[in-house]
Amino acid sequence: MATPRTVAFHTLGCKLNFSETSSIRRMFEEGGYQAVDFSDGADIYIINTCSVTDFADRKCRYEVRRAMKYAPEAKVVVIGCYAQLKPKEIAEIPGVDLVLGAKEKFNILSYIDDISHTPGKGWIKAGEINEVNTFIGSYSIGDRTRSFLKVQDGCDYKCSFCTIPQARGKSRSDTIENVIKNATEIADSGIKEIVLTGINLGDFGNGTEIIEGLKPQKEGLFIDLIRELDKVEGIERIRISSIEPNLLTDEIISFVAESKRFLPHFHIPLQSGSDNILKAMRRRYKRSLYASRIRKIRELMPHASIGVDVIVGFPGETEEAFMDTFDFLHEIEVSYFHVFTYSERNNTWAAGMDNPVDMGIRKERNKRLRILSEKKRNLFYQNHSGDVRTILVEDKLEDGAYTGYTDNYIKVRVPFAEAKPNQLIEAKLNYDSAEGITYAVV
Ligand code: SF4
Repeated sequence: MATPRTVAFHTLGCKLNFSETSSIRRMFEEGGYQAVDFSDGADIYIINTCSVTDFADRKCRYEVRRAMKYAPEAKVVVIGCYAQLKPKEIAEIPGVDLVLGAKEKFNILSYIDDISHTPGKGWIKAGEINEVNTFIGSYSIGDRTRSFLKVQDGCDYKCSFCTIPQARGKSRSDTIENVIKNATEIADSGIKEIVLTGINLGDFGNGTEIIEGLKPQKEGLFIDLIRELDKVEGIERIRISSIEPNLLTDEIISFVAESKRFLPHFHIPLQSGSDNILKAMRRRYKRSLYASRIRKIRELMPHASIGVDVIVGFPGETEEAFMDTFDFLHEIEVSYFHVFTYSERNNTWAAGMDNPVDMGIRKERNKRLRILSEKKRNLFYQNHSGDVRTILVEDKLEDGAYTGYTDNYIKVRVPFAEAKPNQLIEAKLNYDSAEGITYAVV
């Protein structure tokens, strides 16, 4: 029997990319390839890129060099958001053989055998992003304890700082039927926790934004999806990843509060606590709406974890506007933040805006919010010390203990010898404030 050709992957960026890499890996395996580690010297390397960070180019070059080091004769293929945005730049990176755009990446197998080696000349197959109108469902399996299940892709919003719509195209979603099929496959593989993933997840089926007095007009929306998923036997825990505040309806919050499978954990982008900056960002809500979402969650789920994305240093963010954000985040009952320092992106409205903030000030504001986030997280952990909660056991540490997360997203150290990865255990939490660690205790 001939030795199968080998393929290795590296994924940069978000949960969506991880779910897509995993699905592409399964496509290769079904096509007779053997997936190996990156350092094993594969015949084909697939690098799935991200365009969100400042270092997209550097990171991509670094991974191409690594692939060339392990296997100088390998074919190197670059896919992902950065590949859609800058295909020409990537094709010129020494060692890159093929660059595939958002639409073409799922047809990767049909291009592989046609690659020829012309040094310094990668082959580009990347169409216009506005032509991308198909949805390919994906999910990750085998990489970590949880599975990322992609149910939606692309975004129709036009936030002034964001390049994602240019990299991922129009908002489009899977069918509820197909999501259920994928979720069932994940559950059948023994995975206990699914993270529902999308670029604008709440827009599933094209969501209806919260407008006072108006009811959703359509079927097949995010609320319908989670109602159906909740009925699937075998799935123990479902986490909703980031959801826009203007799409997080009372109905969704009430449903999660009642559900046994959907976890009390929300991640809701705020981006700024200043209404003027929100307007300049072209976000679709004011801070009062955001505050109302937090109040509703707290009313029904006092124990829920609430994460916040926030951007500092957006053009025109005065010290006063920053303090609006700081004070707002200080006041509202959220559990932690992801703080991003604004940086100019080509082809965005914000890049041309007046009054850019000095980079030193951006970094300093980032630090101030990170310190506040740490305090909030510790307080959240402290407030739940003594609770009994379910923990999904994940990685083993060097000292033999395990880490895991509770349903309400408290990171826990599990020092039980009999614990096993992917096991759900119920334990009492004990927060050690000196160490900043929550322990599971019997
Ligand atoms: S909602 Fe805004 S920030 Fe999020 S992907 Fe869409 S355009 Fe980008």
